Amino acid sequence: MSETTVGLDPGDRSVTMPAGVLGRRARRDAMVRLCAGSALWLSLLLVTYWWAAGGGIQALAGWETGLTSAGRLAGLVASDLLLVQVLLMARLPVLERPFGQDRLARQHRVVGFTSFTLMVAHVVLITWGYAGGQVVRFPATIWSLTIDYPGMLLAAAGTACLVMVVVTSIKAARRRIRYESWHLLHLYAYLGVGLALPHQLWSGQELVSSPAATVFWWTAWASTATAVLIWRVGVPVWRSARHRLRVAAVVAEAPGITSIHVTGRELDRLSVEAGQFFSWRFLDRAGWTRAHPYSLSAAPDGRSLRLTVRSSGDDSREMADLVIGTRVMVEGPYGRLAPRARSRTKIALIGAGVGVTPLRALAEELAYDPGEVVLLQRYTEHPLFVHELQELERRRGLQLLWLPGPRRAPDSWLGEHAGTASDVGALRFWVPDIADRDVYVCGPTAWADNVRRTLLAAGLPPEQLHLEIFQW
Ligand SMILES: Cc1cc2nc3c(=O)[nH]c(=O)nc-3n(C[C@H](O)[C@H](O)[C@H](O)COP(=O)(O)OP(=O)(O)OC[C@H]3O[C@@H](n4cnc5c(N)ncnc54)[C@H](O)[C@@H]3O)c2cc1C
Repeated sequence: MSETTVGLDPGDRSVTMPAGVLGRRARRDAMVRLCAGSALWLSLLLVTYWWAAGGGIQALAGWETGLTSAGRLAGLVASDLLLVQVLLMARLPVLERPFGQDRLARQHRVVGFTSFTLMVAHVVLITWGYAGGQVVRFPATIWSLTIDYPGMLLAAAGTACLVMVVVTSIKAARRRIRYESWHLLHLYAYLGVGLALPHQLWSGQELVSSPAATVFWWTAWASTATAVLIWRVGVPVWRSARHRLRVAAVVAEAPGITSIHVTGRELDRLSVEAGQFFSWRFLDRAGWTRAHPYSLSAAPDGRSLRLTVRSSGDDSREMADLVIGTRVMVEGPYGRLAPRARSRTKIALIGAGVGVTPLRALAEELAYDPGEVVLLQRYTEHPLFVHELQELERRRGLQLLWLPGPRRAPDSWLGEHAGTASDVGALRFWVPDIADRDVYVCGPTAWADNVRRTLLAAGLPPEQLHLEIFQW
């Protein structure tokens, strides 16, 4: 087990945060989330208004015109949501910070499936309307629409791309394909979205229905494309070039667990907090094209970064063999399992397995007085960072609870040591004021679900729960 005490210089951090400062960023983030949600609904309202102003509602009176009109509305809303789903994954800091990437990914999924469903409705309703409302004329009409109308062949190709992306993203299908293959296929969504634009320009009337609509749609398309280019491509390349990251040390922490220390230039200018993660590319291997997310396992000190990886698949298995000096590229930092989510003085950190890595960093970086922060570590055989955590216990008054052993039941997140007490009873016994704390949780999905249930049953307000799982 490692004896490293990387970044452990916590002397100055034991300060009580002024009441006004505590929770200020959390409140601001809540406000941004509200504004972002309102902006989405406003944009939907706006496109619906333009549809209505263009006679959409009157057209509903007739059967054929009604089908076409409903199809137009479905298409407009689908287009709006199509851009929204791309924006949600564009790594925009203004969204990443208040939402966190896992929440954005969940919303991207919901918005994506909704926009896809509406896009299918758009194709069916418009074609049916053009077919005079007769089902038998549907195949011939869809053929002539695709062949004869400008931009429609491209739109059909775009639809095929989106169908493939959606089918491979259905949970049952996704479980069967490797993450890397799924991710590669998922990139075709950009092509699908791009191919849909020409038919809106050449065959649709919506982009030119009014000067305001033209400005709205062009701004939406241009800013979405620019955001993707800047934040998904430009910023990571620029950041990696600026900081010139390299592997400085590789340390075995426990069987199958390795810490990688990375150094670089001007790391003090990298705006990152403990608990956040980067997507990493180690440029020594064939798989460098696929970035892998790993959290920081030590508070960033302006000189180096540390990540700790459990060997679980082909990429993580190679970590122990990394050569010192290997070049590293990063995307990020991302994630909300960080001090910015904090709203309470007292904190509980609950982690399992390698999920304890961001919590270890938080225990170092958070400002607190002795006794205000407790860390519960669940592990089967080998606890992580024992010496470092004991050092924090001694120097900063971090409270430690070690929860060993295999899980006692499938619906429990505790081991045998918890005896016959219920999960809620045991948690209340160990941390009686749990409902009055911010609680940061990180671990495997099923385990984290059990912890969440227990915490809510123990009276924790949902906004005080900050949870990250190492899987999307
Ligand atoms: C926000 C976040 C933070 C993480 N932090 C840590 C950490 O600090 N330490 C640690 O050991 N693990 C961490 N993980 C998990 C780690 O990213 C995966 O275990 C790793 O990417 C597996 O890659 P592999 O090629 O070794 O295994 P594979 O066998 O290829 O993948 C195993 C599983 O890992 C997931 N996965 C693989 N690649 C990715 C990817 N690029 N993005 C998202 N999920 C992926 C998939 O669900 C896959 O089924 C984190 C994951 C997330 C989402």
